[in-house]
Amino acid sequence: MGTPTADALKYPFDHLPGPGELQEIVPGIYWLRMPLPMALDHINLYLLEDSDGWWLVDTGIAIDPTEALWEQVFERHLKGKPVKAVLATHYHPDHIGMAGWLCERWRVPFYMTQAEYLSGLAFSRMQREHFSWSSAQYLQRAGFSAQHIEQAGARFAGFGDYIKPMPMAYRRLVDGASLVIGGRRWRVVVGRGHSPEHACLYCESLNILISGDQVIPRITSNVSVMGGEPEANPLKDWLASHEHLLEVLPPDALVLPAHNVPFYGLHTRLRHLVEHHEEHLLALEEACLEAAPTALELLPVLFKRALDENQLGLAVGECVAHLNYLHQRGQLERSLNAAGHYVYRSIDDTLPLRQRRHRSLADDQPPIQV
Ligand SMILES: [Zn+2]
Repeated sequence: MGTPTADALKYPFDHLPGPGELQEIVPGIYWLRMPLPMALDHINLYLLEDSDGWWLVDTGIAIDPTEALWEQVFERHLKGKPVKAVLATHYHPDHIGMAGWLCERWRVPFYMTQAEYLSGLAFSRMQREHFSWSSAQYLQRAGFSAQHIEQAGARFAGFGDYIKPMPMAYRRLVDGASLVIGGRRWRVVVGRGHSPEHACLYCESLNILISGDQVIPRITSNVSVMGGEPEANPLKDWLASHEHLLEVLPPDALVLPAHNVPFYGLHTRLRHLVEHHEEHLLALEEACLEAAPTALELLPVLFKRALDENQLGLAVGECVAHLNYLHQRGQLERSLNAAGHYVYRSIDDTLPLRQRRHRSLADDQPPIQV
């Protein structure tokens, strides 16, 4: 892909699994791809073979082709064994969309962390009327006009359309817990920031990490503030999680991510992502030195390309995540202007020093594209 990270990573698989087909990673671990109706057009799911059945890791989004593709897998690839468990890494619709259907279809338990399960329940029931005054206020403070906020309210739909009714019971995954599948121990490693309590699975004997959206090789996971929790600081969690993963996982693990393709180079990727966000933080601080911009006005600092309406929401969420991080660390001052927008000013007197470091870094390592 031409970025420093991509060049440093190794991709051991030349072929992608076809629709409804499984590709063996190692005996007992299989890779399945499901379609997504968006620019990012696929999600990777993984099937783990146990002596008496199959564990499904993530489930696909609830759109038409997904159910038929699952049926094709059941018909052709389960070696006469049933599905015995469904596990979701986190609550986003491409991961939990079909969980309810799968657990119903096979009458099997559903595994998830508590914060992800409860978030999934809440978001999957979100309807148009949940666009409230607080959602409008969040957008106003980010810098949007009254007209734009009205249009956003009219378009608001929530996740519900892409998620089958969630399983009404679950088994809780916690950080450090183990699952034994096919005679191998998988350790739950929790990451935060992209979602509240994202479960990764690490198998030491195989040195394989199923990373979900916590580590992806070629795209940066969205780290966003949303209207439901406007003072959240997910970037702090995200960066702390990267430090944690660097400590508890080895550099040479084979990483099975939920998007793009399996890769080697876990520590390289984690370090590059930390640098990517640090570059963004510094660039925002610089942009708030002279002027006092809003989050909306700061988008070109983070995103070089033009954004469509859908991307705009994610981009503003990501920008506010960086601004909340800096504000809560005491590096940006935040005040409300007459239009009800938050405006930001840099107040950190170490910035000129760090700017010089940033400039020299930026010269040899341009930030990767989102
Ligand atoms: Zn996600």
